[in-house]
Amino acid sequence: MFVPKRVYFDLDSLDYPLGQELYKKFIKMDGVEVDKVKSPRLVNQRGLGAPQKYKEAKKTIFVTVRKTLQFQTCKPSAHYQLPLVSSCPGLCEYCYLQTTLGKTPLIKVYVNIEEILAKAKEYIDKRKEITVFEGAATSDPLPVEDYTGVLRRTIEFFAKEPKGRFRFVTKYANVQSLLDLEHNNHTTFRFSLNTEKVIKEYEKGTANLAARIKGANLVSKSGYPMGFIIAPILIYPNWQQDYLSLLENLQKNLEEVPSLTFELITHRFTTRAKNNILEVFPKTTLPLDEGERKLKYGQFGYTKYVYPKEIYDDVESFFRSNIEKLFPKSEILYLV
Ligand code: SF4
Repeated sequence: MFVPKRVYFDLDSLDYPLGQELYKKFIKMDGVEVDKVKSPRLVNQRGLGAPQKYKEAKKTIFVTVRKTLQFQTCKPSAHYQLPLVSSCPGLCEYCYLQTTLGKTPLIKVYVNIEEILAKAKEYIDKRKEITVFEGAATSDPLPVEDYTGVLRRTIEFFAKEPKGRFRFVTKYANVQSLLDLEHNNHTTFRFSLNTEKVIKEYEKGTANLAARIKGANLVSKSGYPMGFIIAPILIYPNWQQDYLSLLENLQKNLEEVPSLTFELITHRFTTRAKNNILEVFPKTTLPLDEGERKLKYGQFGYTKYVYPKEIYDDVESFFRSNIEKLFPKSEILYLV
């Protein structure tokens, strides 16, 4: 279980029941520094270099109130982002949040969960058709779930919304607190997977592959619609062999599931992400050479570097043929 090194409380957060509950919980924990602050700056971190500051931020929870209740769109996985948590304790070098969260991504936990869900209801009522919300657009929300219970509350909320759907993805395996919920098939639980090499080299601080597959089996036994995101798909010597081993490993160890989806995302990076990655992981071996990529315009105005068409086509035919062969009942939702 993730244990933070320090937890800061924004003063406003203590006006909410979840803020109070978290304060009482963390103040009792040995070795966790707890403080009430006006601003989420990392105190006592002056003099540290960027890599160390980044690591310290990833051990720091900032309990706060989500002020902006305007949800961003979230293509291709959902209609809207649902902001529950931002950042996570993981140290994935390629993290897609390098572009937006910068070099000190404190783990922000939003205590005004009821206001956030009320806003989600407004969005659903306005659209009057099935509306899907992504709970992992700005975080991996599972590592702090045993403290916050916000996923639990959100899953129960969506279970009662005829037109609301919730989905999130994780690289962690502490799923126990979510197994006994009345989810009404309205929440899709996804696990992010990658080759053993990618996990070992680039996903430090997350659960290993076997633990994620074990978590997936527990979740599917609880009847949740389930899926896997394979991301980022990285091209390196023997990538096909390694991704095939991953798919075969999954086929061997995944118990019978009623339905299964795959989302496939090839590696991409923005200039801002590259600059941050090189500062906080100066020894990274991630492939970040713009000369080997193609420029693409993203949904929030960022340009990103993606693999060129020939590589993308190879990835597409490799994954489509192998997933069809090994998981004939599954559906590939998208490949980007
Ligand atoms: S687990 Fe997800 S959100 Fe956390 S560092 Fe890794 S990629 Fe980023």
